[in-house]
Amino acid sequence: MKNPKIWLSSPHMGGEELENVKEAFAENWVAPAGPAIHEFEAALAGYFNVNGAAALSSGTGALHLALINVGVKRGDEVICQSMTFAASANPITYLGAKPIFVDSEKDTWNIDPEIVREVIIKKIASGKKPKAILVVHLYGMPAKMTELENISMEFDIPIIEDAAEAAGSTYLGKKCGSFGWLGVISFNGNKIITTSGGGALLSNDWHSISQAKFLATQAKDNAPHYQHSHIGYNYRLSNICAAIGIGQMKVLDKRVEQRRANHAFYLENLSDLPGIKFLKEPEGHFSNRWLTAITVEPSLSNGVTRERIRLTLDAENIESRPLWKPLHLQPVFKYAEYYGTGVSEELFQKGLCLPSGSNLSQADLHRIVKVVREVFEGVDGVGKVLPIGKVG
Ligand SMILES: *Cc1c(COP(=O)(O)O)cnc(C)c1O
Repeated sequence: MKNPKIWLSSPHMGGEELENVKEAFAENWVAPAGPAIHEFEAALAGYFNVNGAAALSSGTGALHLALINVGVKRGDEVICQSMTFAASANPITYLGAKPIFVDSEKDTWNIDPEIVREVIIKKIASGKKPKAILVVHLYGMPAKMTELENISMEFDIPIIEDAAEAAGSTYLGKKCGSFGWLGVISFNGNKIITTSGGGALLSNDWHSISQAKFLATQAKDNAPHYQHSHIGYNYRLSNICAAIGIGQMKVLDKRVEQRRANHAFYLENLSDLPGIKFLKEPEGHFSNRWLTAITVEPSLSNGVTRERIRLTLDAENIESRPLWKPLHLQPVFKYAEYYGTGVSEELFQKGLCLPSGSNLSQADLHRIVKVVREVFEGVDGVGKVLPIGKVG
């Protein structure tokens, strides 16, 4: 019989979610409105220490509203981290604006502040100042926020923080998602906590949050009939999903601990293997370790590659995944501008995300480590001895 499937990152309920959902049913709040939404928003604002939170149907929708809020319009340019999920940049194009992709730096794998600065200077000189800087905290690792905030202030360009993967991460003790003019969180099923699908927009500017809620509910003006003076969207979270979210917020810190424990386990049990490296937390950066990622350097690993590890895990019914393919390499963005030195391209070549769910058992973790070590010992997933250095 095949070993049971180990997922990369699967939902992990805390216990009270189902009760909250039953309560919503009992009161018939089965709608994108209701008391659970307000309670969830209050919990979010409290946890992230911001003045306002809007519970929305996805992180992607939250990014779309954030870009509208900072005034991005057709023909505008937005600086965006290249190494990220496509959902970071897609909303830029919904508005007819253009992403300008920027490479990562090596310490956090996030947008390189020095390149951002050069690009802004170049763009201003050519008469077109970028409208926003879209920063991502990849896999939960906080970006270099001090440098980025200084650039934002110097050139008066707002930061939109894509903290979809970074709920519970902090930089200099402050929560990721609370730095930018607007911050975005995702509650998709694979994230550190989930509402089955959903997202949130966070800000210290109360007016921006109330404007986002207005646009997210079809932009209805104050009138007895349906009156509209703006184009609206249908981006509000369901009260049912918010009921799940209330339960999930109570276990968020525990989930961070559990994901960090996975990372510590991998570090302890794999870092002696030749050519394998883990991303360290630079001083002041606290990662939720949403996903633990390794890089594999084939010139040091006797020829073992990221891909061979991935395929061997897959043969053992264990899901792992290459790092995000940089967006400037994606066919859909092939005409977009890009500035960089190849850091994200190399990470994409060599990087692998290991199963990282907070619900992994010790037995699961041991099983994963055993398979990875066997690849290095020259034994593949089905027990065949492979000539080291020749395969992969
Ligand atoms: C998941 C994710 C999003 C999108 O969030 P959804 O809630 O799935 O729409 C955006 N950016 C990053 C970096 C993500 O990982």
